[in-house]
Amino acid sequence: MKAKLFLASSIALLTIIICACKKNSSNTDTSTVTNIGANVPDVYKKIYGATDIYIEGDFVVIKAKNLPDHKSPYYQGTQWASTKYEAYNGTNPNWQQNPNTIAENDATYKIPLHPAVAASHASTPLGAMGVAINGIAIFNQYAAMRAPLTNEINGFDQYGGHPQLSGVYHYHAEPFYLTSTKGKDALIGFLLDGFPVYGPTENSKTITNADLDVYHGHTTATADYPNGIYHYHITSADPYINGNGFYGTPGTISQ
Ligand SMILES: [Zn+2]
Ligand SMILES: [Zn+2]
Repeated sequence: MKAKLFLASSIALLTIIICACKKNSSNTDTSTVTNIGANVPDVYKKIYGATDIYIEGDFVVIKAKNLPDHKSPYYQGTQWASTKYEAYNGTNPNWQQNPNTIAENDATYKIPLHPAVAASHASTPLGAMGVAINGIAIFNQYAAMRAPLTNEINGFDQYGGHPQLSGVYHYHAEPFYLTSTKGKDALIGFLLDGFPVYGPTENSKTITNADLDVYHGHTTATADYPNGIYHYHITSADPYINGNGFYGTPGTISQ
């Protein structure tokens, strides 16, 4: 009888401990589980930082919380700081942390399932113009008022991103965590027009702006599209990811 009671109370105690741990981890954990809908082509499954990916008509819908899966100085003072804060350890001697901190921002990207060249090329918006495979927003080559990024660059953390005023973390240039974990030639994300973005190398060659058209892309076969596709490349020089607007017709982003 005593042993039974002990067992019952042990189980109760264990349950409380497990629940407490679970609760705690959901507060500090930035990882996401991706729910993938029917008929989603494999290439979109590389977007591991989304919460949901599904097909809606001629669009791929990607939902993300926009919390970087890598560390950042900008996690300082947030609920994720205990696991995700890391002081700046990059190489920019002019590094200066901006006053913003990372916040969760639910975003829904709706991108064309069959991207196609547009008759007139829309300019990219301020705010997200695409999404990286870790679910983080990709911004264009401009700061507010379409000013160059000259000063903003000094606020990029060691992984190449920073948060804006409302805490939306984003990359304007190479996301170093992704190119180091996935490879310099890997698929990095998609712009809103549905065309993919690749890292700064291709067939072991570093791509420069001179290799690309005015929209910052070109058409070749890639590992994900062996029959060839138009794609953007990240380069180390301005404009970094996109040039003079979208090559194709952009979908939408809502936050
Ligand atoms: Zn920015
Ligand atoms: Zn290429």
